[in-house]
Amino acid sequence: MTAYDPENIFAKILRGEIPCHKIYEDDHVFAFLDIMPRSTGHTLVIPKAPARNILDITPEDFAHVARGAHKIAHAAMKAFKADGIVVQQFSEPAAGQVVYHLHMHVMPRHEGVPLLP
Ligand code: ADP
Repeated sequence: MTAYDPENIFAKILRGEIPCHKIYEDDHVFAFLDIMPRSTGHTLVIPKAPARNILDITPEDFAHVARGAHKIAHAAMKAFKADGIVVQQFSEPAAGQVVYHLHMHVMPRHEGVPLLP
């Protein structure tokens, strides 16, 4: 697998070199709105640890991301009066990964409203 590249766009967001709409931060994770949302409130949860994807992260650091996604999912249900939530994570190009810093998509869903492509 390709090594982690510290110049990826989410690493730059973590370092404050690129702006984002921050939703949540703690010692281990950072969450911000997706720039091309597939649903209202589409949020990305990322580890502060440098990890390319699920194949490149310790179970402990992945547990932090899962905890962050859990927190954001509950908050988003309330904030957006959602009917459901999609939580999704792509690892490696074959799976559709485009940005190579692990991220969990958290997408609020509303009854009858399709996800944007
Ligand atoms: P996919 O694009 O197939 O969902 P990824 O899982 O790698 O692949 O997702 C990358 C996500 O990052 C996309 O949803 C994209 O809209 C989002 N994104 C890219 N650049 C930024 C940015 N600067 N700020 C916020 N979100 C971004």
